[in-house]
Amino acid sequence: MMRQVALGTVELQTRREMLDLVVVDGKARGIITRNLLTGEIEAHEADAVVVCTGGYSNVFYLSTNAMACAVTAAWKAHKKGAFFANPCFTQIHPTCIPVHGENQSKLTLMSESLRNDGRVWVPKEKGDKRPPQDIPENERDYYLERVYPSFGNLAPRDVASRQAKYRVDEGRGVGETGMAVYLDFRDSIKRLGADKIEERYGNLFEMYAKIAGEDPYKTPMRMYPAPHYTMGGLWVDYNLMSTIPGLFVAGEANFSDHGANRLGASALMQGLADGYFVLPYTLGDYLAKTKLDKVSIEADPFKAAINQVNGDITKLMSIKGTRTVESFHKELGRIMWEYCGMARNEKGLLKALELIPKLREEFWTNVRVPGEANYLNPELEKAGRVADFLELGELMCRDALERKESCGGHFRTSTKLQTMKLKGTMKNSAILPLGSGMDQVKLKLGTKKNSNLKTLNSQLAVINRGLYVS
Ligand SMILES: Cc1cc2nc3c(=O)[nH]c(=O)nc-3n(C[C@H](O)[C@H](O)[C@H](O)COP(=O)(O)OP(=O)(O)OC[C@H]3O[C@@H](n4cnc5c(N)ncnc54)[C@H](O)[C@@H]3O)c2cc1C
Repeated sequence: MMRQVALGTVELQTRREMLDLVVVDGKARGIITRNLLTGEIEAHEADAVVVCTGGYSNVFYLSTNAMACAVTAAWKAHKKGAFFANPCFTQIHPTCIPVHGENQSKLTLMSESLRNDGRVWVPKEKGDKRPPQDIPENERDYYLERVYPSFGNLAPRDVASRQAKYRVDEGRGVGETGMAVYLDFRDSIKRLGADKIEERYGNLFEMYAKIAGEDPYKTPMRMYPAPHYTMGGLWVDYNLMSTIPGLFVAGEANFSDHGANRLGASALMQGLADGYFVLPYTLGDYLAKTKLDKVSIEADPFKAAINQVNGDITKLMSIKGTRTVESFHKELGRIMWEYCGMARNEKGLLKALELIPKLREEFWTNVRVPGEANYLNPELEKAGRVADFLELGELMCRDALERKESCGGHFRTSTKLQTMKLKGTMKNSAILPLGSGMDQVKLKLGTKKNSNLKTLNSQLAVINRGLYVS
């Protein structure tokens, strides 16, 4: 596309936010945008619409995504009839710099490659506040290596994330807040030398040192999971067309390719494949085969969409309540993190479904959006996005409640695995009673040989990813 921009055949309209989709005679025929600099509401007619507006991890408030990442474009399309698939499938990345305070709005991702050489651990004792260097080897719990011997520190993202949360919830988290686990390079440095580690991860170590104020060559990094990627999105067919003819969706904004877990496929590759290899053919095919009447931005569907957008903006500006947009976003984020985050259960999801509508109601009666609508106004932009997150959050919880199974990024704590028969040397079945909400597996084995336990554990890791094996 940028080649066409350079050739002058495509005009970029930057600093615009898509606030609605226009559907004419059942087909996507345009969008409504707000000029972020002037506040002007603009209508654009089109033969087809392609939405590539990224994921919605910011529904959790704190995430690794940029602040402008929002669900608004996809959500408005959904409200116009496009199906939304797998909204609750979200990925929480295990290696991010932990939250350090109340006034933080972003979380920094540290590349997952670090787990190639870093060992993840927490102290064996709850509440152990000694500096990591003072905790002897036999008082450390390298829990990923212990619980998943065949995957070790390279356990999948959802598994590693949940395990970190379990350790923290058990009271074995580290650092000032207790909301972190260690990622330790001591052994790799001993084995390979600091130079090799610098060659592999020097930039990341430097970044960590700048943010965390600690030298990871000497002190283990502190890590905690953070919302990072959303596998759900607008439903599309193999041609990347949504359920609204003429509305195509590419990249993280669509639901395709990743299922409940993104590990099998690179997100960037999906974006490239969608943009380079799929859309140029399927969009052209649609345009070639579809009879499209001329549309004008003076037509009723455009006027109706503009009225809707203007109405929402006027409403937001006129509430003049007492709470900031940010405070609503934070509260929603806490609800989502708590009840629709790394692990979900019926009780929690029902609670979230009680809390979110109440919060949304308060938002629409008590939010305060300062400034003017017809001018640069980041608070107004945020308010619109949070209004949509408040609706999406509810859909995510409903989806999570509907799905009784556990899969990838969607882990239901009440999943019951009652028996698993092992072949080979072990005579007895492994009994895996899972107390509702306890999320804990106890292994009762006839023969408790270590080697058998090891095999069992790794099989469990495959079948029952992310469960706590004590
Ligand atoms: C810190 C970080 C590291 C990552 N590392 C990797 C990696 O190593 N490998 C990998 O495969 N993936 C990685 N990912 C994921 C990958 O970067 C994203 O999935 C990918 O960039 C999504 O591309 P996209 O074009 O679909 O959306 P985005 O890149 O998110 O682009 C969407 C654009 O749409 C704009 N937009 C949003 N809403 C609107 C609206 N209403 N109107 C107008 N514009 C709008 C946004 O501002 C943004 O510019 C990483 C993500 C993050 C955050």
